Amino acid sequence: MNYISTRGAGAGERHLFSDILLGGLAKDGGLYLPAEYPRVTADELSRWRTLSYADLAFEILSKFAGDIPADDLRELTRRTYTAATYCNVRDDESASQITPLKTLGIEGDTQLSLLELSNGPTLAFKDMAMQLIGNLFEYALAKHGDTLNILGATSGDTGSAAEYAMRGKKGVSVFMLSPHKKMSAFQTAQMYSLQDPNIHNIAVEGVFDDCQDIVKAVSNDHAFKAKHKIGTVNSINWARVVAQVVYYFKGYFAATKSNGERVSFTVPSGNFGNVCAGHIARMMGLPIEKLVVATNENDVLDEFFRTGVYRVRKSAETYHTTSPSMDISKASNFERFVFDLLGRDSARVLQLFRDVEEKGGFDLAASGDFARVQQFGFVSGRSSHADRVDTIRDVFQRYDTMIDTHTADGVKVAREHLQAGIPMIVLETAQPVKFGETIREALLREPERPAAFSGIEALPQRFDVLPADAARVKAYVAEHTGE
Ligand SMILES: *Cc1c(COP(=O)(O)O)cnc(C)c1O
Repeated sequence: MNYISTRGAGAGERHLFSDILLGGLAKDGGLYLPAEYPRVTADELSRWRTLSYADLAFEILSKFAGDIPADDLRELTRRTYTAATYCNVRDDESASQITPLKTLGIEGDTQLSLLELSNGPTLAFKDMAMQLIGNLFEYALAKHGDTLNILGATSGDTGSAAEYAMRGKKGVSVFMLSPHKKMSAFQTAQMYSLQDPNIHNIAVEGVFDDCQDIVKAVSNDHAFKAKHKIGTVNSINWARVVAQVVYYFKGYFAATKSNGERVSFTVPSGNFGNVCAGHIARMMGLPIEKLVVATNENDVLDEFFRTGVYRVRKSAETYHTTSPSMDISKASNFERFVFDLLGRDSARVLQLFRDVEEKGGFDLAASGDFARVQQFGFVSGRSSHADRVDTIRDVFQRYDTMIDTHTADGVKVAREHLQAGIPMIVLETAQPVKFGETIREALLREPERPAAFSGIEALPQRFDVLPADAARVKAYVAEHTGE
C-alpha cells in the first residue's frame, strides 16, 4: 500500500504506512491518503462478521499497513483491543465486544442505536485509536532504536487519551500543555493523577488558545524540533483515522444479519477525523447508506454539507459550547474528503486550500462537484445547547440511558435523517461523567460515574505550572529530555 499527498507533491515517491506513522502533514502541507482504497470482497465481509474486535482490526489494518509483518500486527491488535482496556464502563460480559451496540428503540420504522466507543481508559472515543497508536509507536521506535517526544495542547479529551496511550511506553515521552485551572475537576484529575515518569503535564497560566500557540511556536522552530525529536499525535495522523475504520465494520455487523442490508451512521464531528473513517469504510465497500455529520453551534461542516460553502471561522467567531470537543474553527481532516469529492484532482485541492489560507474558504455550490456529496452519502445537521439538554432528558426518560453532550448532538441530528428500514447507528463519543454540568442541568442529578473513577479527584496529582511563554516551555522540554 502506497500513500500519496492530497496536494500532489512527491507523486511517484514511495511512502509506506511505517514511513508516515510518526509524521503529520506531507511535505507540501497536504494530508496522506492511500493511493487507492482497498476493496473488501463479499467473502471477506462474510468471514469478518464473526471475528473478535482485535482480529477484525488486524484484517482491516493489514490492508493499509502491509509493510508491518502480519504476526507483529496481529500481536499489536490483540494486545490493544482487550476487554481489560475497554471495560471501564461495563464490567459485564459485553465488555469483551469492545464496542457494544446498544439499541435505544424503534423510531419511525427505524432502529436507533448507540455504538459505544467510550468505554476505554479516558471515557472518550479517542481511546479507540489512541491505544493502538501507543503500541504502534512503541513498536516502530524500538525497530529503529529511536525516541519521540510528543508535544500537544489539550482542553481535555485528546490530551488524556494520548497520555493514557503512551504511559509507560518505551521510547516515547509526552509533554502535554493544558490551561491551568480551566479544566473540570474530573478531567484535571484524569490527566494529572498519572504518575508515569514519561508523562509530563504542563499547566500553562493562560487559556487553551495560549497552549495551542505555544505548540505552534515550538513546532515552527525546526532546529529545536529536530534536536529534541518533537512529534505530535493530532487528529490528522493517518493511523488514527484508519484505526477508527474498524468500528464502522463492527457496528455494521452488530446492527445487521446479512450483508445485503444497509445502515446509516451519525457522527458527532469536530475535526472530521471520526466521520472521515466512516467515509473510508464506505469506499472500501461497507454497505453504508448515509453518513450524517452532526455539529454543534460551530457549524462549519454543517454549512458545507447544506450549501457547498466551506468557510473557516476566526477564533473570535468560535463558540465555547457544552460539547467542547466539537468546538472547532476549521476541520483539519476535511481535506481528505475534498480530495475524493474532486475525483482526486490534487491541483484543485491545492488551489482550494490556498483559498482557505488567503480568503478564508471556498465555494463549491456552483460546480458540479457539490452534487457528488450525495453520491458519497453525506448529509448533516447541527444542534444548540437547548437541543442537547432536551435530547439528554428525552433519551433518559424514554430509554433509561444517560448520554453525554456530544452524543446528544448526534442523536438530535440523527433523528432528522431517519429512513424507514435502515438502522441508524449514532456513534457514542464520550461518557456523561465528563460533562457533569449539562447533565445536572438536564436531569437535575449527578452523572453516572463508572466505579473505576470513584474519588479520582482525591488522588495525588503530578504537574508543573509554567507561564504562557514558548521559551519557558522549550527550556522545560530540553531539561526533561536530558539534552
Ligand atoms: C474529538 C471528539 C469529537 C470530534 O471528533 P472528530 O474526529 O474531531 O470529528 C466528538 N466528541 C468527542 C467527545 C470528542 O472527544
